[in-house]
Amino acid sequence: MMPEAVLKKAAAEMLDYEGSGQSVMEMSHRSKTYQSIIDGCSALLREVMQIPDNYEILFLQGGASTQFAMIPLNLATKTGKVDYVLTGQWAKKAAAEAKLLLGEENVNIVASSADKTFSYIPELDKSKFNPTADYFYICMNNTIYGTKFPEIPDTGDVPLVADISSMALSQPLPVEKFGILYAGAQKNMGPAGLTVVIIRKDLISENVRPGTPTMLRFKTHADNGSMYNTPPCYSIYMCKLVLEWIKNEIGGLDKMYELNQQKAKLFYDYLDSSKMFKGTVEKGSRSLMNIPFVTGSDELDAKFVKESTAAGFVNLKGHRTVGGMRASIYNAMPIEGVEKLIAFMKEFEANN
Ligand SMILES: *Cc1c(COP(=O)(O)O)cnc(C)c1O
Repeated sequence: MMPEAVLKKAAAEMLDYEGSGQSVMEMSHRSKTYQSIIDGCSALLREVMQIPDNYEILFLQGGASTQFAMIPLNLATKTGKVDYVLTGQWAKKAAAEAKLLLGEENVNIVASSADKTFSYIPELDKSKFNPTADYFYICMNNTIYGTKFPEIPDTGDVPLVADISSMALSQPLPVEKFGILYAGAQKNMGPAGLTVVIIRKDLISENVRPGTPTMLRFKTHADNGSMYNTPPCYSIYMCKLVLEWIKNEIGGLDKMYELNQQKAKLFYDYLDSSKMFKGTVEKGSRSLMNIPFVTGSDELDAKFVKESTAAGFVNLKGHRTVGGMRASIYNAMPIEGVEKLIAFMKEFEANN
């Protein structure tokens, strides 16, 4: 969901953006007015996330899934060997794309939690890291399985690449520990259509894998201020409004993190005390954004999904690959949403 204040602001500016006589949807991306929007979004993201000067911010298209290819195409240029940790569907897809482009033998799987349906973040054994890998890849928050890395792996001089699609802007992150952070905006940053890439400048190079298309080179976009071609103009504008909301109404990422911890604790505490519902993730690996849970009976799960949907709760059905239920409580979900869900679950528990 999007913050209501953001939707209202966008609605108020829909027909005439700041006296320009145009909707942001209608503007030329080369206009002065639009330039101030994209520059403003970039500056705000840098401020809110405390992104150091030696990192570039890129506004791209193609979703997080296009990064599964762009990352190996641009970074796997020295030894052509890379490390991946498999913690769920999105990490698996990213590793599969790297195998397609680099060859199966060059993609080292450092660890995996597939043995227990990705219900935990595996311990990382440093002796399995390749010290000459071109990069080390993780998916920090696993949207479908509801796990989050409890700590950031120390990969030494090997650049750490992290997919933060489902946790971007949910908490402060030490950007300097990463080579690349990237996110499809649609989970927590704005509407679909925008992918945000935060990349250390020394990783942007002309030296890419042979045959890499112009549009898939980080350098193309960095050299052109994310305007090599038409950027996803309206989504960038909405992302700027979301950042203004975090900065001015929430009070920054520390405060956002506090609120997210409060919401998640409320829900996990209830799950831990319930006799009917239980969380599926090991305690040390729990996500603050995505919380999968089950009753233990497929029949009851189906009944719960049906009745909760009828009561107005949206998207509680678990991902089609895992079943059960999943509460996604992204930044814009108010604590009242969590309280109402818990009240509904208590009633369901009593009645069943
Ligand atoms: C949703 C999601 C993706 C896929 O994003 P697209 O923008 O649809 O390609 C990738 N990674 C994670 C962690 C996600 O949650």
